[in-house]
Amino acid sequence: MCGIIGIIGLEHFQTRMPPASQSIKPSPINPPASTPALECYRGLLVLQHRGQDAAGIVSYDNATHMFAAEKDHGLVTQIFDQERIEKLSGYMAIGHTRYATIGTDGASDIQPMMTGIPFGLAMAHNGNILNYFSLAQKLNTEFRRQLLTHNDLEVLIHYFAYYLTEKSGGIPDQSTFTFDNIKSAVGQICDTMVGGYAVVALIANEGLVAFRDPKGIRPLVLGVRADENSKTYCFASETIALTYLGYEYLRDVKPGEAVFVSKDGTLQSAVVRAEKKTAPCMFEWVYFSGAEGAQGGKSVYAARLNLGIRLGMHAREAIMRGEIAPDVVMPVPDTSRPAAISVADALKLPYREGLIKNRYVQRSFILGTQEKREKAVELKLSPIRSEIEGKNIFLVDDSIVRGTTAKKIVAMLKRYGAKSITIGITCPPHRHACYYGIDFPNAGQLLANGKSADEIAAWLGVDKVLYLDNEDLRQAIGAGDMCMACLDGKYPTEIEESAAFSAQRHIAGGKK
Ligand code: SF4
Repeated sequence: MCGIIGIIGLEHFQTRMPPASQSIKPSPINPPASTPALECYRGLLVLQHRGQDAAGIVSYDNATHMFAAEKDHGLVTQIFDQERIEKLSGYMAIGHTRYATIGTDGASDIQPMMTGIPFGLAMAHNGNILNYFSLAQKLNTEFRRQLLTHNDLEVLIHYFAYYLTEKSGGIPDQSTFTFDNIKSAVGQICDTMVGGYAVVALIANEGLVAFRDPKGIRPLVLGVRADENSKTYCFASETIALTYLGYEYLRDVKPGEAVFVSKDGTLQSAVVRAEKKTAPCMFEWVYFSGAEGAQGGKSVYAARLNLGIRLGMHAREAIMRGEIAPDVVMPVPDTSRPAAISVADALKLPYREGLIKNRYVQRSFILGTQEKREKAVELKLSPIRSEIEGKNIFLVDDSIVRGTTAKKIVAMLKRYGAKSITIGITCPPHRHACYYGIDFPNAGQLLANGKSADEIAAWLGVDKVLYLDNEDLRQAIGAGDMCMACLDGKYPTEIEESAAFSAQRHIAGGKK
């Protein structure tokens, strides 16, 4: 899972090359000093929680007909300074925060990526191409392309470039390049690439393209900011980037839809591969997305409150059966807070913060190695003894994937004198691998794989563990069809190449 953003603004095009007859008035909302690259940077700041391994921005400048790229390992604030942002001139830009689920830690695997053949393209994506390895082999043997990275985006960009030109029987020039080229290319990508992917791409001297896989597994939203002179469009993984940058949310990019904003500011869109059943990732509402945003038009915060209401019902039943007797409800910060508030309301128990989060330590689930994850738990949470000692704690967490974080937290609470601990999880047990951009490609790594709730409780060292069931999740989120494959094993795409994906993932040196 990663964060992506793409911005194209006609005012920036005109600002650099103003027609003699037309003077552009600076807009109070978006003065000329605000470039697409600067906005991408600011957008990446609020998408940082989606990936903390690396980040990058690529812009395209119509004055020089050149791409400019700045990317590196680390957090967005560590990578970019004013000097680097100023190098990213132009009227359109895309940005990426990386959470490595494929590829290596090498600099060449950092997104966005570019190609100059058959013409200029820059691209960033969020997700995974499940059949990446066979497509990479095909590129090499049939097209004689030498891949330079271990990242599935490189395969995607090569195929997209090929399909863009194929429709025109060669390289389309400016007079023949139309939205039909893009529709055809995105349609063929949807037919070729198995997986979950949301993509933003710059086409040199043409405009910005955005699209999602036909099932809509990975998210992408569209916003606009208009003034009397022009419109600026923003595509992003989450609505929070739109809000932060002052864009009005227009809609989610639809599953299988191609959206193109040309350099004259015209927006064209078409669903090129419609599927009856779509499958947005349920984990966006449960864990990944920022609580202040919405996915699929559904508030993330409201979904988490609802998840807590459902968990509260299960907890009340357990109390009535005499299985648990909590006297305080406590969240694992931060994602679980809204759910814990709902549980406390349902049980009529005090809500207490017993664990304080150090905001400068990365989210432990998305750190690359087990060792890093275990260390991060110790560094990121500080216990409050007065709220823990002698208490029967009902601890609320959003999910247990590998169990690393939860086990450490339980041990910490016991060290600080907790009398008993029940852990309530606002997600059903993860028992199956994810091949769509979340980093658990091997089911064997999952705590709940092959274990009962009692066995999980014993392993964690708690008195009881309570999970939501799949129906609770559906009802609480209320978004209709969702991907829940890591819970129920019902994958929304073919998974023929999943064994190769998991094995190669390991060989490629990605996260384990
Ligand atoms: S398998 Fe799970 S984590 Fe992966 S996309 Fe589906 S719901 Fe999301």
